[in-house]
Amino acid sequence: MTVSIWQQAHQKREAAYDVIVVGGGIVGCSTAYWLGRRAPSLDVALLEARTLGAEASGRNAGFVLQGTHADYRTDVERYGKRTARRLWQFTRENRDLLAAELRGSAFSWRADGALVAAGTAEEDERLRTSLPHLRAAGAPAVHLDAEETNDRIGASGFHGSLFVTTGAAVNPLHLVQHVAAKSGADVHTQHPVEHVRWGETGAVLGTPDRHFRAPRVVFALGPALPELVPAVSSVVRSVRAQMLATAPADAVRIPVPVYSHRGGFYVRQREDRRLLVGGGRHAHRAAEETSRDATTPAVQATIERYLHTHFPWSPSLGIEQRWSGTMGFSPDGRPVVGRVPEHPEGVFATGFTGHGMGYGFRMGRLLADLVSANETPEALDLFAASRFEDPDAKQAGAAPDRSRPTDS
Ligand SMILES: Cc1cc2nc3c(=O)[nH]c(=O)nc-3n(C[C@H](O)[C@H](O)[C@H](O)COP(=O)(O)OP(=O)(O)OC[C@H]3O[C@@H](n4cnc5c(N)ncnc54)[C@H](O)[C@@H]3O)c2cc1C
Repeated sequence: MTVSIWQQAHQKREAAYDVIVVGGGIVGCSTAYWLGRRAPSLDVALLEARTLGAEASGRNAGFVLQGTHADYRTDVERYGKRTARRLWQFTRENRDLLAAELRGSAFSWRADGALVAAGTAEEDERLRTSLPHLRAAGAPAVHLDAEETNDRIGASGFHGSLFVTTGAAVNPLHLVQHVAAKSGADVHTQHPVEHVRWGETGAVLGTPDRHFRAPRVVFALGPALPELVPAVSSVVRSVRAQMLATAPADAVRIPVPVYSHRGGFYVRQREDRRLLVGGGRHAHRAAEETSRDATTPAVQATIERYLHTHFPWSPSLGIEQRWSGTMGFSPDGRPVVGRVPEHPEGVFATGFTGHGMGYGFRMGRLLADLVSANETPEALDLFAASRFEDPDAKQAGAAPDRSRPTDS
């Protein structure tokens, strides 16, 4: 095959940029977007091993929720009131920025609220007692009893719920593609970075065909971060999640996304009336600590059992698709952001612990600020990797126990 002069220029062996973002998931694409927005004169490249949204960002359920993966009372107990409130605010900003900055129709933006439903009476009690804390934090939520909950979503067996008016849902793959297209960055898909060499003037990133050079680099690789930044391998591990999609139901029966059983299951109905259901990992924990992309009969059966138990009209719906995705989990459930040890001109974010759509767009702004300025962006302390730099724990090779409240 011949190569034109235009293609030849594009294929030159080495390309230089001001900032390179590695990883074309929601976090990497959002970082490229905010770099373009904050400093349009910067030359930015986005390097993605496969296609945009190839991993978790294009495989998830598309819930855009506020707070962490846990209920709000648990966050207050674990982190203290102030940190719990700031985490909520950060994720609320994420949702509001998605609505304000982007063209929602490009990624099926739905902002009708979300239901956090209780699978047990004890969980309902936790949700109910979260309410005063949520209200104090300015979070718009109401408690629904069992009957109201089940009526609202055509369900049975839920013990109650919190309806959070700021909950939203998206087509996650279209969101990632839209954000990347709006970023103005040079997007290089099918460019797996195989090695990183740091020198006096920044980094050289090697892909099979080309080298890329930049004084500053952002690593947004999800669970693959340790492959390029081995020094931080203790802050993230690979965990698999599985989902399925049914054939279209006859009507819209689940009008808002439902997150239930402490996040152990989640279900939503798309505009085409198909049900998307996921979770069940908690019943198969050891098997799902993997980076292998595969569904298993055991987890899929757990998901189906949940669907058929709580939505008694669903067993007649055929299952059209089953899939999995790998997520980066942090030791304490909060995302991890930091500078590459020995190379502060490199920054990273990982460990979104099953909740990256709730953080990702706002996190891109934080990373853009972190990599392009020497000052510390607001909110960085919530996610700083330095929280794991406990000398005793380091010696033991483990992350410190952060389950106790850190402030209040
Ligand atoms: C089934 C499932 C359901 C989920 N549901 C939800 C949900 O409803 N709401 C929610 O908030 N979260 C959900 N999550 C979690 C969410 O998808 C993740 O937290 C989020 O997508 C993480 O984004 P990321 O950009 O950090 O990582 P990723 O999406 O993993 O992106 C990292 C990218 O880096 C690329 N990459 C890796 N190595 C290299 C390399 N060497 N060179 C170049 N590129 C590389 C990968 O190909 C990938 O595209 C779900 C996850 C799964 C799997």
